[in-house]
Amino acid sequence: MEKYEAIIIGGGACGLMCAAQAGMLGKKILLIEGNSKPGAKILISGGGRCNYTNLYTGIENFVSENPKFLHSVFNQWTIEDTIHFFEERGIKGKEKTLGQLFPITNKARDVVKIFTGILEETRQTLWLNSKAEKVTKTEKGFEVLVYKEGKKQTVHAEKLILTTGGLPVAKMGASDFALQVAKQFGHTIVPTAPALVPLTITGKEAEWYAALSGNSVFCRVYNDKIEFEENILFTHWGLSGPAILQISSYWRAGEKIYINLLPKHDISTLIQEERNAGGSRTLKQLVKPFFTNRFLEAMAGIFPMDIKIASLGKKKEREFAKWLHTFEVIPAGDKGYDKAEVMRGGVNTQELNPRTLESKKTEGLYFGGECIDITGWLGGYNFQWAWAAGYAIAQDI
Ligand SMILES: Cc1cc2nc3c(=O)[nH]c(=O)nc-3n(C[C@H](O)[C@H](O)[C@H](O)COP(=O)(O)OP(=O)(O)OC[C@H]3O[C@@H](n4cnc5c(N)ncnc54)[C@H](O)[C@@H]3O)c2cc1C
Repeated sequence: MEKYEAIIIGGGACGLMCAAQAGMLGKKILLIEGNSKPGAKILISGGGRCNYTNLYTGIENFVSENPKFLHSVFNQWTIEDTIHFFEERGIKGKEKTLGQLFPITNKARDVVKIFTGILEETRQTLWLNSKAEKVTKTEKGFEVLVYKEGKKQTVHAEKLILTTGGLPVAKMGASDFALQVAKQFGHTIVPTAPALVPLTITGKEAEWYAALSGNSVFCRVYNDKIEFEENILFTHWGLSGPAILQISSYWRAGEKIYINLLPKHDISTLIQEERNAGGSRTLKQLVKPFFTNRFLEAMAGIFPMDIKIASLGKKKEREFAKWLHTFEVIPAGDKGYDKAEVMRGGVNTQELNPRTLESKKTEGLYFGGECIDITGWLGGYNFQWAWAAGYAIAQDI
């Protein structure tokens, strides 16, 4: 029987990086992946283009009960390390917006190819179509029961690394395996939920949103914790778009979020300037440069948009300013794990060594990537975490 120094369960971003780095250090690894191809989420990420890091990654871009936990791993593997790692192997990055780096070729599969190439060169063992079902602690390490192409097999190693990701998108192989194993070994789990996920609107207002379906507006979306300035997208079931996905990670059921629909201007100042110029333009003409016709029609259902500014009373002006700058939304819920980009919550960081990601409860057991209570913003942060975690574990095993 082959002898492995470590078994990695989960051949996604973190598991691939971990296996590749371990291979380059001369360590013999078995990487077990349930899908027929490694890196399924890398392949679909960023619309098939893979936003593989963010130039401005910092711990403030992560949701966690303990974001400071990231310091040690991020000191070991930096943005420059990610850029260098991919550049050295032929992927040059190009920044799209807000520090988001994509391969210049726009092909996520180039990213996966780098990892499969390293695994081959370093003669690592990759089992595809292989689902880990059970982990048992043995005297010398761990035994893993695997269904490999439907057949039962057991494998052993001294060290075991769980990189099975989070719960989003079951059809891509997502599972709660890491969370189950963590619980088995006495770890606590920070409650999990979909994150970077669209939000739904139901009830009377739903129709108003549905009428705007397809309209994208540059906004500031905020709550009492955080704000994001990016586009929102109206849909026939609610709200999506980058700013909504971002705030969804900070939203809890029943809470309100607020939208400043005109974040770069103060409507009261614009109205005053128009008044000073005679006030002959209507409210609609004043805001027309900033919104689509459909949005203006939707506004007209609420405010007298054809009124001349000269005749606009102070009360109506205040109401309009409040509506435009602090548009209130009470989402009914979110679109769930199938539409979420990541999971928030996960294995409690307090019970992991922050440098190595080894369990403080069981020697030789490691967790990496999305299964840990570390959730990045939209924009390449989640991969930066997955790469860095994979690297840190590989140094220790
Ligand atoms: C649509 C979409 C787009 C995204 N785009 C981006 C982006 O552009 N930039 C970014 O930074 N992040 C993006 N993300 C998030 C990113 O993909 C994840 O944060 C990242 O892949 C997590 O890495 P991971 O290794 O922890 O888990 P994963 O990459 O999810 O890998 C886990 C692997 O474990 C396997 N597995 C699970 N259970 C078992 C088992 N029992 N046995 C064997 N194998 C198992 C799964 O099949 C999977 O391949 C996106 C996510 C989605 C859903």
